[in-house]
Amino acid sequence: HGSNMPGKDCVKVAVRVRPFSKREKDARSHCIISMGSNTTTIVDPRSQQVRTFTFDYAYWSHSGFICDKHGLFVPEEPGGRYADQQNSVFQDLGQAILENALQGYNATLLAYGQTSSGKSYSMVGYGPNKGLVPTLCERLFQAMKINQDSCQCQVFFSMLEIYNEQVIDLLSRGPRRGLKVREDQQRGFYVEGLRHVACKSSAQAEQLMEQGTRTRTTAATHLNTSSSRSHMLITLQLKQIFPKENITKESNISLVDLAGSERQRTTGSEADRLKEGTAINLSLTTLGNVISSLADAALGKRVVHIPYRDSVLTKLLQPALGGNSRTIMIATLSPADMCYEESLSTLRYAERAK
Ligand code: ADP
Repeated sequence: HGSNMPGKDCVKVAVRVRPFSKREKDARSHCIISMGSNTTTIVDPRSQQVRTFTFDYAYWSHSGFICDKHGLFVPEEPGGRYADQQNSVFQDLGQAILENALQGYNATLLAYGQTSSGKSYSMVGYGPNKGLVPTLCERLFQAMKINQDSCQCQVFFSMLEIYNEQVIDLLSRGPRRGLKVREDQQRGFYVEGLRHVACKSSAQAEQLMEQGTRTRTTAATHLNTSSSRSHMLITLQLKQIFPKENITKESNISLVDLAGSERQRTTGSEADRLKEGTAINLSLTTLGNVISSLADAALGKRVVHIPYRDSVLTKLLQPALGGNSRTIMIATLSPADMCYEESLSTLRYAERAK
């Protein structure tokens, strides 16, 4: 019973459209996306063909305005529902993840979209516009404090990056690259030697996140690439001990900022970029296949094989995606006509996950 059991609710999909970037404004881009409470419509700027998708949540960010059929902004009617705040995104998506984890179930939050469509803004946020991850940490430690009389709780924080199917520890003090992914009967897949930091407060979690983000940028410069070409995975391992009831609950929260989904162009050092592109495509495709198999299974369809083993990302997410887990994907979009192909492909990817 209830929303916490696996079922057709186990995968939820949200879409979010960001404001225009300066580049898009300078190019006098038109808006090709419009949103209803859970519908998202995209118009092909050449053929004017309209496609409508339905998702669990849709977030618009042109507060006070809606996009008319010519791609122009017109003032929204009073009382409209489009104000976009990091807060309401957290209320809808983050809160469910947190509650699930506190009840002892695994939960996964994934951000998917082309580079600079708003994945980091949604996950981590910028400055005072805190994203899902820091807010989630804040609320988690608040909840622990409220429950501290009945429950002893430990949180372990880890942060890694997957680049070209290689695992890089973003918090390690020692050698960071080429960590081995191993498989264990009990634990399933895990990263050998990954640093898990016992975390006592949301301030400490934020500091770890900053440290990891810095390392990620440095690592990318070192490898002569961009951090948008790697996946970032933060895991919060939660252990709650209830001495009175003699119960222990363990759960993982997995927070994933995926590599940019844009079609890989062969610029720069061709061979390297091609290898990167192949690795990115492999893991995004495998992830799509895994999630859609899980969604099928939840609907009672017969699923023969869930292809976790096909990429490092899905191996590491296996416990986070199957079983009693709850998964939320946030698909991020640019509003601009110049991003039509990529936005359509993001919407299609997100649609498969439902
Ligand atoms: P990505 O992580 O997908 O590469 P970013 O999150 O860095 O993209 O977003 C690109 C830019 O757009 C950033 O400057 C960010 O502040 C801005 N941005 C993204 N989403 C939003 C939003 N919902 N509201 C306001 N600004 C946003």
